[in-house]
Amino acid sequence: MTKQTHAFQAEVKQILHLVTHSLYSNKEIFLRELVSNASDACDKLRFEALDNAALYEDAPNLEVRVTFDAAAKTLTIRDNGVGMSADEAASHLGTIAKSGTREFMARLEGEQKKDANLIGQFGVGFYSGFIVADRITVETRRAGLPPEQGVRWTSEGTGEYELETITRAERGTDVILHLRDDEADEFLKTWRLKSIVGKYSDHISLPILMRKEQWDAEKSQQVLTDEWETVNKAAALWARPKSEVTDAQYQEFYKQISYDSEPPLAYTHNRVEGRSEYTQLLYIPAKAPFDLWNRDKRGGVKLYVKRVFIMDDAEALMPVYLRFVKGVIDSADLPLNVSRELLQESRDVKAIREGCTKRVLGMLESLADSESADDKTKYQTFWNEFGAVLKEGIGEDHANRDRLAKLYRFASTHADEGVSFADYVQRMKEGQDTIYVITADSLAAAKASPQLEIFRKKGIEVLLLVDRVDEWMLSHLYEFEGHALQSVAKGAVDLGKLQDEEEKKQAEATAEAFKPTLERLKAALKDRAKDVRTTTRLVDSPACIVVEDGDMSAHLARLLKQAGQGAPSTQPILEVNAEHALVRRLAGDDARFDDLAHILFDQALLAEGGQLDDPAAYVQRVTRLLSA
Ligand code: ADP
Repeated sequence: MTKQTHAFQAEVKQILHLVTHSLYSNKEIFLRELVSNASDACDKLRFEALDNAALYEDAPNLEVRVTFDAAAKTLTIRDNGVGMSADEAASHLGTIAKSGTREFMARLEGEQKKDANLIGQFGVGFYSGFIVADRITVETRRAGLPPEQGVRWTSEGTGEYELETITRAERGTDVILHLRDDEADEFLKTWRLKSIVGKYSDHISLPILMRKEQWDAEKSQQVLTDEWETVNKAAALWARPKSEVTDAQYQEFYKQISYDSEPPLAYTHNRVEGRSEYTQLLYIPAKAPFDLWNRDKRGGVKLYVKRVFIMDDAEALMPVYLRFVKGVIDSADLPLNVSRELLQESRDVKAIREGCTKRVLGMLESLADSESADDKTKYQTFWNEFGAVLKEGIGEDHANRDRLAKLYRFASTHADEGVSFADYVQRMKEGQDTIYVITADSLAAAKASPQLEIFRKKGIEVLLLVDRVDEWMLSHLYEFEGHALQSVAKGAVDLGKLQDEEEKKQAEATAEAFKPTLERLKAALKDRAKDVRTTTRLVDSPACIVVEDGDMSAHLARLLKQAGQGAPSTQPILEVNAEHALVRRLAGDDARFDDLAHILFDQALLAEGGQLDDPAAYVQRVTRLLSA
């Protein structure tokens, strides 16, 4: 192939533009990204060679070499990993297949600091080379292909790149950065490069080699020798004993695997022996990633087998509801050539998954139950970011239901956040044995629900459930420590022992007197309400909508409708407050009875966040009443 010029995919152009014009802080991370790509390429080769040892081409020692030429102002990152064919170079270095590019650019445009760190988070690390280079040359050959099928890829990081065939004896890749004049001074120094490698790449389990320097007395300066030295620790961090790893190292490792610029909330590092032998290093992030809601997204836990990287989205290792956890699991028992299918079935993996789930729940419990105010704040931070995801667990993980329920936090009529079921139970009134809840679209809507009035009056706490996932949670969680969960918008309110005799009697008398009006109301609303009945749950409002115990709540029906899914259309029940002035007017106002009845119903529907089927009819009725 002679030299060919290709245009970058539009997304790549945009990224390159941002990279070269926007990223000012943390420039040094380009080296981390390129070394990490080099190390991934070696991992890939090792993995492919499990089935085809010939790919090693008699050179099985995998390594990364970092060299520079101060005169030519070039910095080269070389690996003897899997390399790329011409097609692979064009597709891997000329297009971005991954989703998330748009989010990346939006973040960059929003971000004040223009932190280069962000780049790794979005899987476009290769392009970070253009932060410091005005030209990048990649020379590569795919392992297993003949030397004549080497490739040279060159680009100035603008609109296009060139590809040409070269002869390359060694498999693997050289990434050659032609540094900008103003960057060359900083990065073409052994000590500087060593310190960056130490900072970011110590945990990389391959040796990263650089030429040794020696003091030259004649020139009275350091000069490069032909000897090589390993400049990273080359020992996987998780494989080192806990006592030898500092908190700072754990934190730095977290940054590398998560690309999160904030430190994690908590981490745990253990060697587990038993049915299955493995090491776990798991982190709980402080901030939700942009794609948390994508249940198909890659898991955050990387799988290694005896230090060899196997895959980084091993969803079999963690339940879906813990998809925010980041870390590494290194198994001593799994076969190196384990496939995804095998992972799903393996009993060892099941044991690992159970063990890791318990660990993560344990970490969360120790934050939640801690006496320290700092930990409590951390738990609330966690809950705000990931609580809704953790709620998915109640239906997914039966074995841990009780532990999960204890970790849940809600808003209630007592506090806007942080109320646990245990707090609620502790505050229950004498004679109360039910946990009362209400679901709504927002905290404001929940607080304004007419159904809460009687509970407020009696000082009975109600949990306000306003996450989308709450309805779903309620369909899996019926009770907490023997106390049933009851929606105050479902069924008739029965405050049981909480209501005093005097009030009961009075309510019965009012209801009795209201009966004739009630019958007329039922007749007037027969096409809209399943039933009309008097209630004691209202104090200030004339009426409210409730659904029957087994029926789907109005809120859930709305959510389903929004999601484009049909919901069974069950008619609601209208409950009226017979003591309310508006309701009392009904009895003596034959002329306007019908209008008042419909307005009562429509307003109850509106108050509850619902939508009117026929808003025009409502407006006409109100207009008639107001102009009478
Ligand atoms: P990511 O590494 O997150 O996939 P990058 O933009 O850093 O994204 O790299 C794009 C792709 O280019 C990689 O997925 C890989 O296939 C290929 N690549 C980059 N560097 C190398 C290398 N040194 N050896 C082989 N392939 C590489």
